[in-house]
Amino acid sequence: MDGTPGLEERRRGIAAARAALTGIAGSLWEAPSGGGLGELLGEVDALVASCEAARVAIVGEAIERGDTCDGPQALTVTQWVRHHAPCTRAGGAGQVVEVAVAFAKPVNVVVKDAVEAGRLPVRSAAVVVAEADRLRPLLAPGAEPHVLEGLIDMAVAHGPRGCRMVRPALLARYGREGQLQCEQDAARRFVALSQPMEDGTGIAEYRLVLDMEGKAVLEAALGPLSAPKPVEGERDLRGSDQRRGEALVSLVKRAVEAGQAVGPNAKTQLVVTMDWESLASGVRGAGVTLGGSDTGTMLAPETVRRLACNASVLPVVLGSAGEVLDQGRAVRFFTTAQTRRLWLRDGGCTYPGCSMPPHWADAHHLVHWADFGRSDLDNAALLCERHHTIVHQRRLAGNVVRDAVGERVEWDLRRGGYDQLLARRAAQEPA
Ligand SMILES: [Zn+2]
Ligand SMILES: [Zn+2]
Repeated sequence: MDGTPGLEERRRGIAAARAALTGIAGSLWEAPSGGGLGELLGEVDALVASCEAARVAIVGEAIERGDTCDGPQALTVTQWVRHHAPCTRAGGAGQVVEVAVAFAKPVNVVVKDAVEAGRLPVRSAAVVVAEADRLRPLLAPGAEPHVLEGLIDMAVAHGPRGCRMVRPALLARYGREGQLQCEQDAARRFVALSQPMEDGTGIAEYRLVLDMEGKAVLEAALGPLSAPKPVEGERDLRGSDQRRGEALVSLVKRAVEAGQAVGPNAKTQLVVTMDWESLASGVRGAGVTLGGSDTGTMLAPETVRRLACNASVLPVVLGSAGEVLDQGRAVRFFTTAQTRRLWLRDGGCTYPGCSMPPHWADAHHLVHWADFGRSDLDNAALLCERHHTIVHQRRLAGNVVRDAVGERVEWDLRRGGYDQLLARRAAQEPA
């Protein structure tokens, strides 16, 4: 014997645990005040987790042996579970079976271990397994163990929701090259604001769908505007949704009133933290911190480069040890005077065929800020939001040309032209 209890011994132990819980309500008065009940709850909860883990293990064994299909009627595995585990008739039998089947696969052995050790509840394990299945084809070679660990840690700390939230960060770190960018570019197609729906009661309802970038921008702007505002010491009784809704309207009002005025003066709204290697290599994503708070959103690399063109974004570049290398290079912003001259020179978006007026355009760095492009007019071009996105996505190169007519920006619309330009620049530079 190796000291592990046999099945009969375990059965007796389980019966003893049940006996210990039967009629427990009558003895609770004995628990000391100040922590006694909490401790007891913790013990019972750990027991529940062990029971759930055991249920999955038993179902797994039954599936492997084919025990679930014997008996008088032909039952599906789920029906078999419901038959023998009446608690699952209220729901959850399917999940038990799903997890049991997943645990039979060698790839899920770490998840199984975490459940058996009582670290990970079965409900969270189901989400970890499902997320891992979705991520697997998108991962760089050798990354899977790290991803599983990351998913388990998040699920242990924050439950199933945490597990879903960590997906972009994991893709940025362990995904195939360009995977996060690909996903976030695809998400842009779903951006939508519905027509107002009115039911005659004086209320209009909208449905708004945003991608991660849109969310980061909107939240950064709404954050400070939607904070509770006490009036003469009296609490602000508006709910958070009401404050956010009113903040959105005042944001739009302000933008409309600003009209033709020169854009915002370096008023930082979005703080982007990224490590230098990621920014320079353009492979990984970067965390975006909203207005200095800690709600990080993970954005894909090309998106970050485009945002870094914009004066309302402050990039904080981190070194390999997390130290701050660059708090937004001082000369990164185009000055108000430069912006005025740029408005005059370009007269609006410079993308061929676009007529967006200047006050709706961003000042793009022709050699990106991330590639040490300078904030000179020779390195600047006005682009509307849409064309700015395309220029970064397709990595297009532009040039300021001077001739008899004056100065203007010319675009080379071949994809990847920007990378060729960088290569030419690198070749010219003294080593
Ligand atoms: Zn740009
Ligand atoms: Zn345009």
